[in-house]
Amino acid sequence: MKLNWQLIILTWILCVIPSMALGQVKVVATLPTLGALAREVGGSDITVEVLARPGEDPHFVDPRPDFVLKLSRADLLIHNGMELEIGWLPALQKNARNARVQANGEGVLDTSTFIQPLEVPTGKVDRSDGDVHAQGNPHYLYSLDNAIAVADGIAQKLSSIDPSHAENYRQRLATFKRAASETGQKWKSKFAALDARGRRIVGYHASLVYLCTWLGLEQVATVEPKPGVSPSPSHVAKLVAQLKTSPVGAIVQETYHPRGTSEKIAQMTGAKWVIFSPGPQDDEPYLEYIDKMMTKFF
Ligand SMILES: [Zn+2]
Repeated sequence: MKLNWQLIILTWILCVIPSMALGQVKVVATLPTLGALAREVGGSDITVEVLARPGEDPHFVDPRPDFVLKLSRADLLIHNGMELEIGWLPALQKNARNARVQANGEGVLDTSTFIQPLEVPTGKVDRSDGDVHAQGNPHYLYSLDNAIAVADGIAQKLSSIDPSHAENYRQRLATFKRAASETGQKWKSKFAALDARGRRIVGYHASLVYLCTWLGLEQVATVEPKPGVSPSPSHVAKLVAQLKTSPVGAIVQETYHPRGTSEKIAQMTGAKWVIFSPGPQDDEPYLEYIDKMMTKFF
């Protein structure tokens, strides 16, 4: 029998190369949105593990035993920064004993460095003001413009630690940016077409300032009197009175906040009650998540 050496060599290459070339960058992302953005630009050149569960409150993520193991093996840790994860991430980084993912390690990417912070306190930060962060409001991932900037930053970082796939990262980023700016334009014009009331909203928590900036909305009040402080009956009564004289289009909250109060305020004032997940579900693409969230306003 005549051996087809070309075929044998090809088969050998196909069997051996993947495991050699796999060299996938091991990424750990703290939040589902960051994981989704990493997947957009990293594709098959990376593996992504996300620490917070879909829908989990990013201020208070429950550390699970496998977090430390994941971080101990990571090439790159992508996190939100601006103290959003301060209550749970530093201890995990320390316990992981992986120099790359320590605070100033070369495998750490704080994506807040790619955005323009809003609501940066001017004076001294005082705990009596509630959960206020010295570097500004950390909830910037609800802005699609910021998500594009973050995806860009992730692509640059991946290219620098894995230069052999830089072209792949560049191409995927370009594809994502095209789709994202189309999605962004679509929602910007839908919100711009709303009347003045429709463009005014109340958030449960002070987490919507970047969303408002992106879409041209105005957050006139929050259900929480101060960030992280539960609303008292008198605060709610005052808010309802305010919204009866000056109505808003929607009362908006993340799924992890208590639901009863904002739903009741919405009913009493004729506003829409919009409740959305703080990030995509497992494997849900970022832009599908945005579409799903925005649809709830209409
Ligand atoms: Zn917050």
